[in-house]
Amino acid sequence: MRVAIIGAGPAGLTAAETLRGYDRKIEIVMLSAEPFPPYAPPAMADYFLTGRKETIFWKGEDVARRLEVDYRENVRVVAVRPAEKRIALEKGDAIEYDRLVIASGSSLYAPIPGRELPGVYDFKSLSAARALVERGKAKAGGKALILGAGFIGVEIAILLRELGMGVTVIEMADRVMPRMLDLETAEIVLGAMRERGITVRLGTKAAAFLGKRKATGVQLESGERTRADVYVAATGVKPHVEFLEGSGIETGWGVRVDGHLRTSAEGIYAAGDVAETFDRMTGERYVHAIFPNAVEQGKIVALNLLGFETRYAGAETMNSLKHLGLPVMAVGAMAGEEELRARHGNALRKIFVTNGRIVGFRLAGDISAAGVLHSLMLRRTDVGALRNRLLDPRLSAGALALDAMRGESGMRIGA
Ligand SMILES: Cc1cc2nc3c(=O)[nH]c(=O)nc-3n(C[C@H](O)[C@H](O)[C@H](O)COP(=O)(O)OP(=O)(O)OC[C@H]3O[C@@H](n4cnc5c(N)ncnc54)[C@H](O)[C@@H]3O)c2cc1C
Repeated sequence: MRVAIIGAGPAGLTAAETLRGYDRKIEIVMLSAEPFPPYAPPAMADYFLTGRKETIFWKGEDVARRLEVDYRENVRVVAVRPAEKRIALEKGDAIEYDRLVIASGSSLYAPIPGRELPGVYDFKSLSAARALVERGKAKAGGKALILGAGFIGVEIAILLRELGMGVTVIEMADRVMPRMLDLETAEIVLGAMRERGITVRLGTKAAAFLGKRKATGVQLESGERTRADVYVAATGVKPHVEFLEGSGIETGWGVRVDGHLRTSAEGIYAAGDVAETFDRMTGERYVHAIFPNAVEQGKIVALNLLGFETRYAGAETMNSLKHLGLPVMAVGAMAGEEELRARHGNALRKIFVTNGRIVGFRLAGDISAAGVLHSLMLRRTDVGALRNRLLDPRLSAGALALDAMRGESGMRIGA
């Protein structure tokens, strides 16, 4: 059997590694539009800050050789033809497959006029990040303007500040990381950003990048024009599905998949940021573009390709902020029928409960409770009797298990 994998990110690489772990004979061809060994995007900022390669090339730079994968770098897929079991490449060649895995990830989503102008940078791929960092280094001491204070925008702000730039972030919402954080946690993050000398303008909307041959400024909706040495778009991400147009493979926001991560076309699966799966807690269709989901989906796809009928349990929303000097963690919903809250300075724990079950939580300053809260949430444990324990700074799985054994928590072990 010949399996072709489009994309060598965490989803594609995990699919390849899992296939190879079970079967030495399967022929695997993996394609990447970029000229690098398979890498982990969450480690890009660390890579540029420290030069460390171990985390970015998370399976080793020689992983394709070790897995005996026919890895083709710098190769862009431009079309998929399910009826012929062929994929067409940008340079005119084609590749045949028996089974196909679409793991093409996501790209920048920036619906702002002028976005295509030279001089507008982003941080959505290693190629793009490298170009931005080179520009930042060349303009050290100059000014950077970042549109979007989402998770990636905040990471870029910290990175460019570390490179010695004066950084301003423009965000149209009333808080930083609006899709991830409730207002109170966002304010703690905002404070930490400002302490680092980053300027954040909330409630401010950009209308366009200005310039003819290159970006020369940003026009705000208020009419104000603002200039900088480096412009960055960090306004969101969108599944990489353009090359599937005309293939007949069903897409919505991402590639639509069923509970086994099969697309609408026979023998074709999708995994990672490109796949529109469903939320593990709510069952709603969603693209949760995070690393652990990509890895898990890559594994599930491979198992199904190998003939193990494996259902996907659903995607999670979970993210943590690195490099801020203040750990922050966001998991699941950011509101519930009830809110449990404890705060000591910048250490905040907020737990959202609906029908007696944890539906989400936000942690700042001290994230040591994340593991146990996450586990209670996924297991849908009734936490009615645990209210006070959940806010205890010493909360741990061990402590809860001890309570349960003594019959003090109201929780059954394994509940
Ligand atoms: C700066 C940054 C920080 C992040 N931090 C975190 C974090 O802290 N925690 C977390 O959980 N998640 C984080 N994420 C998200 C996480 O990186 C993604 O969820 C994950 O990389 C998705 O993996 P993937 O394999 O689906 O896609 P990707 O990693 O995007 O890989 C897709 C690959 O497909 C290739 N490709 C696309 N189209 C084509 C084509 N037509 N032909 C050939 N190849 C193609 C691309 O070049 C790319 O290499 C971060 C992302 C970024 C950008």
